[in-house]
Amino acid sequence: MFTATGSDWEQRAAALHLRTGLLIDGEWVQGSAEPLTPISPRDGRALPAISAASDADVDRAVRSARAAFDSGCWSQRAPRERGQALIAFAQKIHDNAEELALLISLEMGKPIREALQTEMRAVVNCFRWYGEAVDKVLDELPVTSPNSLALVTREPAGVVAAVVPWNFPLTMTAWKLAPALAVGNSVVLKPAENSSFSALRLAELALEAGIPAGVLNVTPGRGHEAGRALGEHNDVDVITFTGSPEVGRKFLTYSGLSNGKRVWPELGGKTASLVLPDADLERAVRATADGCFYNQGQMCTASSRLLVPRADRDRALEIAAEVARTTLPADPFEVTTSMGAIVSENQLRSIAGFVERADAEGAEIAAGGAERFDAVAGGSYFAPVVVGVTPENEVARREVFGPVLSVIAYDDLDDALAIANGTEYGLAAALWSNDLNAVHRVSRRIKAGVVWVNCFEEGDMTMPFGGVKGSGYGRDKSLHALEKFTDLKSTWIELS
Ligand code: NAD
Repeated sequence: MFTATGSDWEQRAAALHLRTGLLIDGEWVQGSAEPLTPISPRDGRALPAISAASDADVDRAVRSARAAFDSGCWSQRAPRERGQALIAFAQKIHDNAEELALLISLEMGKPIREALQTEMRAVVNCFRWYGEAVDKVLDELPVTSPNSLALVTREPAGVVAAVVPWNFPLTMTAWKLAPALAVGNSVVLKPAENSSFSALRLAELALEAGIPAGVLNVTPGRGHEAGRALGEHNDVDVITFTGSPEVGRKFLTYSGLSNGKRVWPELGGKTASLVLPDADLERAVRATADGCFYNQGQMCTASSRLLVPRADRDRALEIAAEVARTTLPADPFEVTTSMGAIVSENQLRSIAGFVERADAEGAEIAAGGAERFDAVAGGSYFAPVVVGVTPENEVARREVFGPVLSVIAYDDLDDALAIANGTEYGLAAALWSNDLNAVHRVSRRIKAGVVWVNCFEEGDMTMPFGGVKGSGYGRDKSLHALEKFTDLKSTWIELS
């Protein structure tokens, strides 16, 4: 659908018109919290300040969303019409995909090629998919006695607040907005501090596509201000959140201390890539390393733990190290770049800290190190790291959110499953084997919301995405996501 070409992305970035306000009720307004001061991780350059929402601004956005909902301008439209508006929105995004991809690349350092070819493709598909699906979902007519008629219908929940991270800024946003809007809700979106420009432009395109003012509001701001204010607001019906486990649990608290709103948390992960003895080791290790380094390792599903039979451990380290040494960061604005910048200096320091501590714990560092990488002057770059560790090492247990692959040896299948299931997370896992029986048996014993067999990161909009255990329980994508944003109503009609 999209191909990144040309060498003028830097000039095009300089010419971008960056939106810096809050978008409330279809108008650009100034927030009253201290503005955000974003920095491009590509070269450390300061970007224009972004207005940030305070409690009062969030309240105004929620009231706008509620008024739009109550007016029926969107919530009472026929599903077919809402679907058509979402398809028109998808087309607008499609037509402006290069600008949106460039905003993403500028603000969070993703290679322009990936921003365009992977992220924008996913965003367009997502809005189109829900636009096409929404008038094909049926309600229920339970079988009752001849003297009654029972209806089980779905109604939009009301005001949905979406709080999202920066790593796939518009994909995560689309996964929330598309199903929430499709079924008639109004939304207040709080983008991450490091990715507000793309979210603001996206919402502007929604207005241009004919989604009524007030139906989609955007309140950039700090997590502990704007995010908390949404979590605590008594007139928000649903929170859909993607981010870290710590913040996800805060939303459960905000809900408990306010109106008991529904919270759908999608949290971190520590994906195990489990290679069974019969698998093609080279293929499995290469795919796992690629899956760990993709998006600079800043992925909730990053395949950051490679589990191999003990006899294959040294060979696996060698192969993974070779992948690491040939996957080096470069300028995100070059169309040939596959690994870009780390989102911020803070994140870079955090990743380097994991490597330093792994080294101190006696891990075998087979590629890379704790030093920063020099790709573009002033930018935040970090080369991939491969470490040979035991399951007890910190780096093998905690989410690094950077390109650091832990290679772990196992003794037998029970040992492998104990290691795979032995973290607080349960988002995704990969399994490598050509033995059909083993694949079925082992995949059932893996505690994860998503299991990939002989592949990594595959799937489409028909498949729910989300985790178990500490990875939360929210599900994005598929028709199941509609359930998060609707209330079931049972109507019993006594017939005379
Ligand atoms: P984060 O939790 O720090 O921030 C996510 C969002 O929450 C941001 O918009 C932030 O401003 C807001 N926030 C922060 N503190 C808050 C507070 N006290 N109250 C309310 N809101 C607050 O996460 P991040 O650093 O942006 O993203 C990385 C995390 O997201 C990782 O743990 C990663 O695994 C997870 N993630 C999960 C998925 C998934 O689908 N499961 C996808 C992508 C990222």
